[in-house]
Amino acid sequence: MNVLLPEYYDHFKCIGEDCEDTCCAGWNISIDTETKKKYKSVPTNVIDLQSGIVKDSFKQHEGVCHFLHNNLCRIQLTLGESYLSNTCSTFPRQYKQVDDILELSASPACPEIARLALMNRDGISFQTDTRDVIAMGKMKLNATDEFYTLRALTIGVLQDRRYSISDRLIILTMYFTQKEVYSGDEQQFLNNDFSDVLKKIRPESENQFKLISELIHFLRDEKKDRIRYKECYDEMSTYLNGSFSNYEQAYHDFYKPFMEENEFILENYLVNYAFRNLDYKSLDQFYLMCVYFAVIKYHLIGLAGSRKGLDTDLVIKQIQSFVKRFEHHPATYTVIKHLHKKEFASLRGFVLILKN
Ligand code: SF4
Repeated sequence: MNVLLPEYYDHFKCIGEDCEDTCCAGWNISIDTETKKKYKSVPTNVIDLQSGIVKDSFKQHEGVCHFLHNNLCRIQLTLGESYLSNTCSTFPRQYKQVDDILELSASPACPEIARLALMNRDGISFQTDTRDVIAMGKMKLNATDEFYTLRALTIGVLQDRRYSISDRLIILTMYFTQKEVYSGDEQQFLNNDFSDVLKKIRPESENQFKLISELIHFLRDEKKDRIRYKECYDEMSTYLNGSFSNYEQAYHDFYKPFMEENEFILENYLVNYAFRNLDYKSLDQFYLMCVYFAVIKYHLIGLAGSRKGLDTDLVIKQIQSFVKRFEHHPATYTVIKHLHKKEFASLRGFVLILKN
């Protein structure tokens, strides 16, 4: 089978009991029909599987899977890997069949993937190969020429280090909101120099602060927060305390100097996101990626102010816990509906949340 994969993919190995945010914590883990059937034949004196299952999912105790003990999976320890449900044996990997190529990727909701995928200073590169893969739960996509063109453009712009990462997203927003103007000239678009255009854009930082605060308020449901995300959220919000001047000072004094050296982390987050999630069938998918970026940036600004600086461990923790909390949550699309309602789903609206 022909596969396409980012270079970090083959370096992944689950770190098990050393994991600081095991995938068994905080998620409702479903059990597929085949695995459920298999569980019925396991004698209770070997392991009492039925006591830890409710309907089609594993029960949770104090926020973690019933079968997690000392950060180790009792099903895997007792019965072996072949008894894991499809969800457990696949995560954090993701499979997408695009025409006759299987695309392999992984989610930074797993801390080990977050480190591997985001910490490569040279950026994410992709490779092709031929291998046998059992791709459980794969998505399928019949790609058009436009899909390949738009993906090459998106990843090309996201990795164009002539510009800041916010400016790269603004360039893409210019393209996607005026696609009829640029369509057919994507190569030319990639080669263009947008520096003069970008220099003329003035940040509206106070309005940005207000709008992103509103989006976070809209996204959050405290009852669903997990410890790692909550630690980041509480520290960020205690420091910012609703004050625009705290936000502005933290941005200039601490966030910006750190990102001038380490912006590759955000670039890698976006490239990985685009590769995993975008099929270019709707503009809202792209908008959602920009919203995630803007909200992550906002959290990092608050954390940078609180700690009087950032370090890579904190940035990884914030992005990983944010992805785990929000990226797999279907309700996040409601935030885009909110932006449409407020007439911010436009070039102007996205420049507002992206530009500092
Ligand atoms: S989150 Fe990743 S490293 Fe942690 S237990 Fe799950 S697969 Fe392993």
